[in-house]
Amino acid sequence: MQQTSEILRELKIKVTPQRLSVYLAFNKARGHLSADEVYRAAQKKVPAISLGTVYSILENFCAKGLLREIKIDFNKSFYEMKKEPHHHFSCRICNKIFDVHMPVCSALRTNTVDGHIIDDFQGYFYGTCAGCLNGKKKK
Ligand SMILES: [Zn+2]
Ligand SMILES: [Zn+2]
Repeated sequence: MQQTSEILRELKIKVTPQRLSVYLAFNKARGHLSADEVYRAAQKKVPAISLGTVYSILENFCAKGLLREIKIDFNKSFYEMKKEPHHHFSCRICNKIFDVHMPVCSALRTNTVDGHIIDDFQGYFYGTCAGCLNGKKKK
C-alpha cells in the first residue's frame, strides 16, 4: 500500500482511496481491463465508488501516463498499465485481448516516419486466438 501511494505521488496524482482502488485493480489483474471490470474490482475496496468516478480516474491516469487506453473494441475502451509500446490482438470468438510482440520495423527503430517523430504506437489485430483454435480442433 505504501509503495502504491508513492507511485501515485511521484506522478503528481493526489492519493485518494478511490484512486488507490483503481490502481490496485490493475496491479492485481496485470492485463487489459474495461471500465466496468475496473469498477467492479474497485467496489470491493471502496463500495461507494461510482462508475463516473472510475471513468474520471481512468482518464486522469491515462493523462499522467500511468495507464494506456486501448480502443481495439470500438464499443468500449480497455485500459492497461503503461509499459513498452506493443500491439494488441482481439479474438472475435472469446473477446479476449492479447499483447502481441512483433519484430520492430525500421520506422520504429529510428522513431521517424516521413519526417514525423514517433513517440508511441499501437496496432490492432483481429481474428481467432490460439486458445479458441485449439478448442475448435478438439470438437
Ligand atoms: Zn479466443
Ligand atoms: Zn497490452
